[in-house]
Amino acid sequence: MQKIQYVKHNSHILPRLALMLLFAPWLPALAGWTGETRPLMGTEVSVLLWSDDEAAGRAAVEAVFAETARINGLMSTYREDSEISRVNRLAAAGPVSIGDELFGVIRRSLDISVLTRGAFDITYDSVGQHYDFRSRRRPDSLTVETEREYIDYRYVVLDTANSSVAFLKEGVRINLGGIAKGYAVERGIDILRHRGVEHAIVTAGGDSRLLGDRRGRPWMVGIRDPRGDDERQVAISVPLADEAISTSGDYERFFDEEGVRYHHIIKPSTGEPAGGIHSATVFGPDAVITDALSTSVFVLGVDRGLTLIATLPDYESIVIDAGGRVYYSDGLEAPARASSE
Ligand code: ADP
Ligand code: MG
Repeated sequence: MQKIQYVKHNSHILPRLALMLLFAPWLPALAGWTGETRPLMGTEVSVLLWSDDEAAGRAAVEAVFAETARINGLMSTYREDSEISRVNRLAAAGPVSIGDELFGVIRRSLDISVLTRGAFDITYDSVGQHYDFRSRRRPDSLTVETEREYIDYRYVVLDTANSSVAFLKEGVRINLGGIAKGYAVERGIDILRHRGVEHAIVTAGGDSRLLGDRRGRPWMVGIRDPRGDDERQVAISVPLADEAISTSGDYERFFDEEGVRYHHIIKPSTGEPAGGIHSATVFGPDAVITDALSTSVFVLGVDRGLTLIATLPDYESIVIDAGGRVYYSDGLEAPARASSE
């Protein structure tokens, strides 16, 4: 604003100003980082990007939030009107036609179930639906026993030709809480890439996807100290560019009761929250996969989890167990002890 007033009263400098603008590509100093955080998908979604043009940058941020809200409208079981809620209501009675995106995410979920031998299983929700972490509600052991019967990804049958899904048993329910945020950040980055953005990070809860680097430096993504007082307490920082990283932790949604932590990651074989680990982080090229795998490694535990990751050349993992010990997958080198000071 001040600049305009100045020009008005000193109109002779106008040509000079025009010349400066012409020869100073840095001058549209509106280039810079733009970003915002909003509550979405039952967590916080944040976007940070570098843009040469502030208005275009703001519009791109807005587009990512709009996309996240759209995906939530398809895949949230907390919304009665979502496509997945319709599936949960109707699929036990017969095949339900669904859109390509929901079909694709369910298909990839089932693939990960096969890969993890059922550690990742979107039908965990027959038990999972009985938890309410805000009001400290959990299923009693009889409910767990009964509902556990309906946990098995093989009850979910996809028909590619008809783009439909059916459940083989009444009582089966699916929930994409372990994979949909990865899909959302992947889609968000896709949108930014198509708008010409080259440096960005999109985060939904524990899932992040990075586009490019942080202009000459890698992004530093922090893995939270699982028992730190607040989320800014970082246990390990990982330098990354052009990659996805997901962390599943027992501190995201939980309550403690008589020394036991009841949290949101369910071990399908028992129907109880998975024990032994505080957090599992996975990084690699695709956020849909890192999201599902971080949940999987959490359920599998340190040994079986890292053994699985060792079979996937593009993916690496960092696990913090219930004793606070840190484990790294084969492709990583543990940082020198002193560097954590
Ligand atoms: P967050 O980013 O919310 O911590 P995670 O990737 O750790 O998400 O996944 C946890 C979520 O996954 C739970 O809130 C639940 O919706 C879902 N979930 C829980 N147990 C399983 C399981 N065994 N397989 C697949 N999804 C699960
Ligand atoms: Mg996950």
